[in-house]
Amino acid sequence: MAKLTPMMEQYIQIKNEYKDAFLFYRLGDFYELFYEDATRAAQELEITLTKRAGGKGDPIPMCGVPYHSAENYIKTLIDRGYKVAICEQVEDPKTAKGVVKREVVQMITPGTVMESTMLTDGENNYIGSLSHFQDGSYVIVYNDLSTGENRLALINDGWDAVIHEFYNQPIKEIVISSNLPEEMQLQLKERLNVTLSYQDEVTFNAEFRELSENLNDERLMKAFSRLLNYIQTTQKRSLHHLQKAEVIELKQYMSLDMYSKRNLELTETIMKKSKHGSLLWVLDKTVTAMGARTLKKWLERPLLSKQKINERLEVVQGFYDGFMERESLRDLLKSVYDLERLSGRIAFGNVNARDLIQLKQSLSRIPALQETLKQFDQPEITRLAELLIYPEQMVESLEMSIVDEPPISIKEGSLIKEGYHDQLDTYRDASRNGKKWIAQLEHREREETGIRSLKVGYNRVFGYYIEITKPNLHLLPEGRYERKQTLTNAERFVNEELKEKEKLILEAEEKSVELEYDLFIQIRDQIKEEIPLIQQLAHIISQIDVLQSFASVSESNNYVRPEFNDEQLQVTKGRHPVVEQVMKDGTFVPNDVVFDKRQNMLLITGPNMSGKSTYMRQVALTAIMGQIGCFIPAEQATLCIFDQIFTRIGAADDLVSGQSTFMVEMLEARHAISNATDRSLILLDEIGRGTSTYDGMALAQAIVEYIHNNIAAKTLFSTHYHELTALEDSLHHLKNIHVRAQEHEGNVVFLHQIKEGAADQSYGIHVAKLAELPSELIERASVILEELEDDSNKKLTPIKDKLESGQLSFFVEESNKKKAEMPKQDKLHNNQEQSVIEELKNVNVLDLTPLEAMNELYRLQKGL
Ligand code: ADP
Repeated sequence: MAKLTPMMEQYIQIKNEYKDAFLFYRLGDFYELFYEDATRAAQELEITLTKRAGGKGDPIPMCGVPYHSAENYIKTLIDRGYKVAICEQVEDPKTAKGVVKREVVQMITPGTVMESTMLTDGENNYIGSLSHFQDGSYVIVYNDLSTGENRLALINDGWDAVIHEFYNQPIKEIVISSNLPEEMQLQLKERLNVTLSYQDEVTFNAEFRELSENLNDERLMKAFSRLLNYIQTTQKRSLHHLQKAEVIELKQYMSLDMYSKRNLELTETIMKKSKHGSLLWVLDKTVTAMGARTLKKWLERPLLSKQKINERLEVVQGFYDGFMERESLRDLLKSVYDLERLSGRIAFGNVNARDLIQLKQSLSRIPALQETLKQFDQPEITRLAELLIYPEQMVESLEMSIVDEPPISIKEGSLIKEGYHDQLDTYRDASRNGKKWIAQLEHREREETGIRSLKVGYNRVFGYYIEITKPNLHLLPEGRYERKQTLTNAERFVNEELKEKEKLILEAEEKSVELEYDLFIQIRDQIKEEIPLIQQLAHIISQIDVLQSFASVSESNNYVRPEFNDEQLQVTKGRHPVVEQVMKDGTFVPNDVVFDKRQNMLLITGPNMSGKSTYMRQVALTAIMGQIGCFIPAEQATLCIFDQIFTRIGAADDLVSGQSTFMVEMLEARHAISNATDRSLILLDEIGRGTSTYDGMALAQAIVEYIHNNIAAKTLFSTHYHELTALEDSLHHLKNIHVRAQEHEGNVVFLHQIKEGAADQSYGIHVAKLAELPSELIERASVILEELEDDSNKKLTPIKDKLESGQLSFFVEESNKKKAEMPKQDKLHNNQEQSVIEELKNVNVLDLTPLEAMNELYRLQKGL
């Protein structure tokens, strides 16, 4: 049987080691893919699938992408969650014996991309890892290879907490051990939508020692090593820019569970998953990419320490007050490039001279930044200015070495400035002198031969030559030059002298290009040593940027600085930061909110669409804005520090886990109840809506009572069960509030004003009217409503009893009449039917959720 060609054998050998990646196999100017990889890639990348004879059996499926445009194709695959192994020729094909040696030089995975075209400026790109331990704890590690950031968190509260922590982080890939239970792997993949990678062998290398300096727990070290091991095996190059691992003490930050991160739309909206419409969108007035990333991180981890919050607020106040200075500060920051990612690329070895110019320009702004910061005359800001250390030497050395407008390539010279390096200057002189000599030669030869059109030229193939046009050839003395090339109307010649000079010039040029490259690498490596310093600067500059962003947004949106205390929350004329932005100027109706020792539970009633959930969200967003150190949308605000925020708002179907809406509702409620403390904020919107009326109401009441009696968290509870407002009498810390609406000529007008007390009407029918349901239907609903309202006992007697006693029947008289006319047997049967029909007629369909409707149907059917 015929064998595979040696090249295909080599391919298969390499591919076997990289089964979970597309193997980009370098062949001349192309990366080729074979077999299964080829068929899949052809589909994903929409490129032509061809075949290649492989020596044995059927031709092998193959497709390829040009080497120079591979980046875009790789990006497409990475964006879709795939991995790509780059396999290069590692010896010169000209000197190779047999098949050229090839090796995988880098694995590109969703979490480890470094190429700037594959990264989003204001977004981190994390690769994470998760390790679980026998004692039931977990360790999460985050690494952003492009910025060098390493952070770890130890989680002792079980699996759910792991998902809550990972949720909404810009994380693309999670490295785990293959021992992690299947069910957990599935949840990571599906709920977080990440690529999973495996690293079972975990070894602690000596190189990790410095990076792990802050880790004092064996579990942390092990988890960190798992991730570093993976990065090393995939990246195969310098990871010099990785920063010391930092432990995130989760207890030092407000904890926001997955539901709150989603429901409150902190960094992206629920429906469109876009930044536009989120709190981040409103607050982001940062001008650097580093600042944008930091702001996002702060938003996800509001602070708990009053002192730290106040430190931030002080700076914001300073920036807020100094409007003019802030504008200059913003201008300066605009000219600072992404120092974090620049250092990443320096360490990684993929910077060019233009990047170093960006680095120089950014660093050279530091003295001006310091000056501007000092003008604010505010101690906290001065302290920041002092933390900025100007790396004068680095800037000077870059200034002396790299030309101001270098080319993209670092292999073709023209990078290094004149006067930086003696040998380089000598080469350059040699080349320049040689060229000068050649110009002189032309002049001299013209004189001596008397041929005015004689010229000296150069081309890549033949080098330097003397060209004489055919009509002048007869003027040339025999044997003066050596013939080199014949053209249609000219002859080209050389002589010994010219050949010699040519050699000198070309050698000098070649050597100077090589030397420039070497010098560039030297400069780059020197800067590599300074990476920690650059990162430190990046860190401070990003903070300054976020804080000036807070000041800018606070000024343009009219925010006020909050004060903090331990017990009370009192906001006067508060607004929803996002809703007010999307509404016309001045149309948002501000509202107060008060929570204090006596009153920590607000039960909100009011018609649909009146603004209940906006109000609830507003309270949570205000708290978060305060705890990240930003001013808040209100006239006056005293806030308390919340340790956690729990939300159950809207119908967020958890499609993945296949739970019913009601189940999700209950899970979210359980999560809140089992984790909240008296320092937490709980928002529960229309709890109990997903089940039948009695169940729902009973559960809602039980939940309110439980939170009131056992947790005492500050709670906002909105409900359409008016019955619950009676709880105010028995639960001392509960207070009824409602959103005001007015009836005007049969229509409802929403005033969006929060008032004390319970709402007197539900206005559901008016909303139905607004939604333009048929007028006949609306009228019918109004009749039913009237009937219900006439019933003075409506709050106390369950509807079911009313139905049974016939209280709700509009047709009692008529049906009684009919009953009298019927034979006995039919009467019985008819009675049942009639009562079902009556009940059916009385169902207010608009008030039912689909689930309630089904329950109702089921019950009615049983009645027949
Ligand atoms: P509910 O939860 O009571 O059904 P929402 O909170 O969803 O109502 O509010 C419905 C709409 O009313 C919002 O989309 C918003 O446009 C508007 N709205 C809510 N609160 C206010 C307010 N305070 N001022 C002005 N408009 C508001």
